[in-house]
This record gives sequence, C-alpha cells and structure tokens, in this order.
Amino acid sequence: MNLVLYNDLSREKEKFVPLNEGRVTFYSCGPTVYDFFHIGNARPFIVFDVLRRYMEHIGYKVTFVQNFTDIDDKMIGRANAEGITVAELAERFIAEYRKDACALGIHDPSVAPRATDNMIEIIDTIKKIIEKGHAYEVKTSGENGDVYFDVRSWPSYGKLAKQSLEELESGARVDVGEIKRDPLDFALWKAEKPGEPSWDSPWGKGRPGWHIECSAMSSKYLGETIDIHSGGVDLIFPHHENEIAQSEAATGKPFVRTWLHNGFLLIDKEKMSKSLGNFMTARAALEKYPPLAIRLFMLSAHYRSPINFAPDGLEQSVGGVKRLRNCWGDLQNARQNQSARQNQKTATDKDASEFIRELHALDARFYEAMNDDFNTAGAIGAVFEVVKLINIQIRQSCLPSAFFDEAEAALRKFDAILGVIGIDDESANEKSKEVKDEESEIERLIEERAAARKSKNFERSDEIRASLLSLGIVLEDTPQGTKWKREL
Ligand SMILES: [Zn+2]
Ligand SMILES: [Zn+2]
Repeated sequence: MNLVLYNDLSREKEKFVPLNEGRVTFYSCGPTVYDFFHIGNARPFIVFDVLRRYMEHIGYKVTFVQNFTDIDDKMIGRANAEGITVAELAERFIAEYRKDACALGIHDPSVAPRATDNMIEIIDTIKKIIEKGHAYEVKTSGENGDVYFDVRSWPSYGKLAKQSLEELESGARVDVGEIKRDPLDFALWKAEKPGEPSWDSPWGKGRPGWHIECSAMSSKYLGETIDIHSGGVDLIFPHHENEIAQSEAATGKPFVRTWLHNGFLLIDKEKMSKSLGNFMTARAALEKYPPLAIRLFMLSAHYRSPINFAPDGLEQSVGGVKRLRNCWGDLQNARQNQSARQNQKTATDKDASEFIRELHALDARFYEAMNDDFNTAGAIGAVFEVVKLINIQIRQSCLPSAFFDEAEAALRKFDAILGVIGIDDESANEKSKEVKDEESEIERLIEERAAARKSKNFERSDEIRASLLSLGIVLEDTPQGTKWKREL
C-alpha cells in the first residue's frame, strides 16, 4: 500500500512513511469554543476524520489529537458579553461541538486536550524558547510581563508560508498595547489585563498567546516530532508558521513531517463572513440537510480544492446518499427473497465470478484514489460504479450467496471509511435526535405561546419569547402563523 500525500512544507507529493513503523501521530487544530462552529470548519473535521479512518483501515495505529482552544481574545470577549466566566462558556460550546460532531459522524479523537488543562506544559515550552534565546520578556506593569517570540532570531521563519521576512513584514500588524521589538514578533504569553482570567507564571500573572498551546500539546501527547499536522489553509500563516518556529526553537528537532491543509469552503461562491450575511453554522446546515449528505458533499471534492457550499450541490449529495442507501436496502431484500425461494433453482458461486472480478477492479480503483493524496472524489466515483454494478446484478432472479457476501462486504467497507451510507444507523439519514428533540420542544413552546396570546396572557407569551431568545431562537409572527429561526 503506497499512500502518497501532498506536503505543504515541500510543496510536493511524497510517499508517506511514518516515523515509527505501523504508527501514525496526527494532530489537527480544533475549534475555539466561543460559539457554534461554522460549516467552513466542519470541512477539516470531516475530511481529516476520513483520512484518519482510512489510515486505520490500511493498518496503521493512529493517535489522533484535536485540541479545544478554550482561552483567547474571542473567548474572553464573548464570555464578558454574556456575563459568564470563560470556563462556563467553554463548557457550553464544547458540549455543543460534541453534539454537532457526533451528528456529522465524526469519530472522537484519541485525545481532545484543552489549553487551560495544559498550562504547565505551555509555560514550560515558553521557558525553553527563552532559554534558547528565541523569545524575550517585556514588563508591562508592575510584576507582569508579555513574552514575545523573536522572529529575527529564527532564520527559517517563513518556510511553510514560503515567504521572506521582508514580504511577511509588510503584512504584519501590531495590536494595541503590544510592546514588541519587531512587528513580526508574536505573543507567547500575555500579561494579565483587568477582567481577564490569568495564571501564575515566571512572568507574573497572565495567559498564553494562541499559537503556543498547539506546540505544547502536540509534543506532550504525540512527541517532539510528529507525522502529520492538519488544518484549514487559512491556518498556514501565521498559526502554523508560528507553531513550527516555537516547537523547533524549543526542542531543536523538526516539528512536523507532513503538513496537510484543506481548501476554503465558499458559500454561493463567496468567502463566508458575518459581514456578508452568508455565515452558516454546522448546526444550521444540519437543520437543512441530513448529516450523511453533508459528509458526502464535503468528500465529493479533493480536500485541497475550494468547495462551494450551495443548494444544488447539496441536493445532489442528498440524491447520492439515497442511491447508496437504496442499494444497501435492495441488497438486503434480495437476499431475503432469495432464501425464501431456496428450494427453487439455486445459482452456484461460479456464476458470481464475473461480478466479483469487476467488483475487485473497482475496489482497486477506490484504493488507488485514496492513496493518491487522499482523493476522496475519485474514491466516491468508484463507490458509485460499485452501486451501479450491484444494481444490475440484483435484477437477476437467481443469485449466488458469494454475490451477496462480496457486495455487502464492499459497501460495509466503504461506509466504515467514508461514513456516507449509514449502514448500522437507521436514522443516519435524518436529523440528529437532539436536534429533533429540540425542535419539537420549540414547536411546543410556540403553541403554548399562541394559546397564551389568545387568552390575553401576554406576560406568559413574552416570557416564552424571551426564553427562546436566550437559546438563540428568534420568533417571527406572520399571517401564516409563528415561524422560528436560529440566530446565526
Ligand atoms: Zn494546526
Ligand atoms: Zn493549532
């Protein structure tokens, strides 16, 4: 099995050879848990879930780490706005992340560490970088200080982004309150500010910068040099460039052997942004489309290409999932009918030999595509050819058991890797149970509110509207009745 992956560090396709035979260490940057994750972030979660499943399928023991960023500017801003602690905010959105990830069929990582649980390792990593002379402290007030990475002391800075220091410098910005020597320097540690959570450190009270957590947790859970690190293409600079500089400065060893980045997800051909009003959470997408269709859609393009999240593409995936599931269902029915007719003429396994030969050729195409930089689009093409082949055979009245065994094993295998057929999950093609439960509760409250309004109990009706609003549900009274939508 020759798995070839495109490495963003070398900008070439390379034969994948793990550091330790048979084992893969894999780190993927996880969500900042200040809100529901958006559909653009669902893309790396889904595609790298499938890559991990595939590597397990071909025999690797994969340790897959995906972190939760539970302390940063966005966390603090949102927690203060809602009048809750950063820890409470994190707890809430880690739970919401898990709901959506589970609905999308994303397997749990081997480890899902949180930044705030790894403060000792984070502080330790910063200490090492200072000792090696690649970071410096600047006192901000009293005992507390910021620590910055000294980019000019690190000659290979820019090796992932493939840009020189001069090019990078022209785009660098200095945030208010930063007191660094060079615009390219970035914060490893930020001194405490009023209203922010803080931890004790050799530089006084403060909190880590964003990038350092991934360096610290990657080496804690996977080792100083790891096989694969993945994330969205927007993380190449500065996040991943900074991770490399920090880790390699701290350990003196190469940080990551293969860097993988997925392309952008566009919404109606535009980059998603709150200001364009085309921002969509995964939760909202799950209300519109079944999870299997969302998965099939995400896997229908090469992970490095941009993908356009638009209704016609999604509808096509809905149809595709239906075809896959019908094929599986028809296969089960045909097998039952066959055994009911047992006493009639039975086919011999020899009659299946042509089918099996064609099936194996398509199976080889599936592996060839997956091994070629994880070309899920090509692999899914082969899966649909298999479906076509099965559908032709199934029309015959007399089928040998070898046909059923081979056809079922093939579909089961594709489903275990891609997770787009939902064979062992009756409700996989529907909305998740949590979403359905929540929706019926919303409908119930809307009915109760309508009754309250009818009996002029406006106090109760306002109360219901307010309590739904606190959950992010907005009611709209129309001539056709009350409609609801989720605040995005
Ligand atoms: Zn990363
Ligand atoms: Zn990261």
